[in-house]
Amino acid sequence: MTLAVENALLDGERVGLRCEDGVIAAIGADVAAQPGEEKLDAGGAHLVPPLVNGHTHAAMTLFRGSGGDLPLMPWLEEKIWPVEAKLAEEDVYWGARLACAEMLRSGTTRFWDMYWQPAATARAVTDAGIRATIGAPLFDLHGSPEQLREMAHRGLEELSEYGPAIAPALAPHAIYTVSEESLRWIGELSAERGLPVQIHLSETEKEVQDCLAEHGERPAFYLDRLGMLSERTVLAHGVWLDPDELALVAERGATVVTNPVANMKLAVGGVFPHPAARAAGVAVGLGTDGAGSNDSLDLLADLKAFALVQKHAAADPTAIEAAEAWAVATGARAPLLGATELEPGAPADFLLVRANSPELGIGELMADLVYAASGAAIAHVVVAGEILVRDGEVPGLDEIVARAAERAGRLGL
Ligand SMILES: [Zn+2]
Repeated sequence: MTLAVENALLDGERVGLRCEDGVIAAIGADVAAQPGEEKLDAGGAHLVPPLVNGHTHAAMTLFRGSGGDLPLMPWLEEKIWPVEAKLAEEDVYWGARLACAEMLRSGTTRFWDMYWQPAATARAVTDAGIRATIGAPLFDLHGSPEQLREMAHRGLEELSEYGPAIAPALAPHAIYTVSEESLRWIGELSAERGLPVQIHLSETEKEVQDCLAEHGERPAFYLDRLGMLSERTVLAHGVWLDPDELALVAERGATVVTNPVANMKLAVGGVFPHPAARAAGVAVGLGTDGAGSNDSLDLLADLKAFALVQKHAAADPTAIEAAEAWAVATGARAPLLGATELEPGAPADFLLVRANSPELGIGELMADLVYAASGAAIAHVVVAGEILVRDGEVPGLDEIVARAAERAGRLGL
């Protein structure tokens, strides 16, 4: 299976690109389609790497636009958890299909997911052609460590049946919903099997105060003591990490994924300290969080919010530059997240963004992408050498939207 892209712009130069068996085989000025190859005329579009959504709950698209305007805990306890208790596999499947369509159309080709019925999400990811690291959310707040272990094993087993586009992970929900015993067990299992771990950490100031009161240490030190902080760990949020915690996270090689829009919507009252994290050497990625608390999955839109909130919080317009913000959104500042390089031998995942769109025609491309563009500037999205978005269109989108709306209606959302 070969796809040849012609007439693309890479760093201002006209190039062609050949994809063979899902991998970039060649890229350069002299690459052109051969007879019998599928050809995509990029029409002078910019060739750029795709975005990586480092933290989301894909099927929560079903919760979009309902139950907002609440703080984190009442939102979870009153609006989210009671409905989640009723979720069927088909609900998760269609919610995740909608999420995949939205992410692809706005330039995301890989995401990190924590959600119920992980096999249904894996099926949606496979059918959509996108890539994901998936973990079943693990809680033992209202259950037992035995039930949590069973849930973890079941999730890993179900996810192992899927192909290379799906990476299984462990996803303990948070330090306030998972016991010390279970967190320690998850850390051991992750080390034993080399599995990534995703956990919400330091999202609210209350979480930090409670951790100090209960364990006498701040959240990152608590996790480290339980063997949960390693180069396989993704910490979602990290809003309240202090300088000592940032130094520890950097030393352990763990990744922090910041979710600025969800943090602002839930009004957590702080901003992830990116300049300090970067200076400490912390690996950083960008996420949308679930559509229940964002409510969009357009990472390109959140990229602008990320850059702006960092500048605003620092009262310094140089706190982050466009190229650095773009690198964070593509996963290039966090090796674990799975950034794609545009070079031979790399997976054939890339975006073609319209050079003649109103937002991108004038000025520096990086600045335009971060501060001006929306998903509408993306013409084509290719994953593993397959065109998944063509001229901004996701095939079958009407049915996906209708089926997801039907499932949300069934749940009373
Ligand atoms: Zn989350």
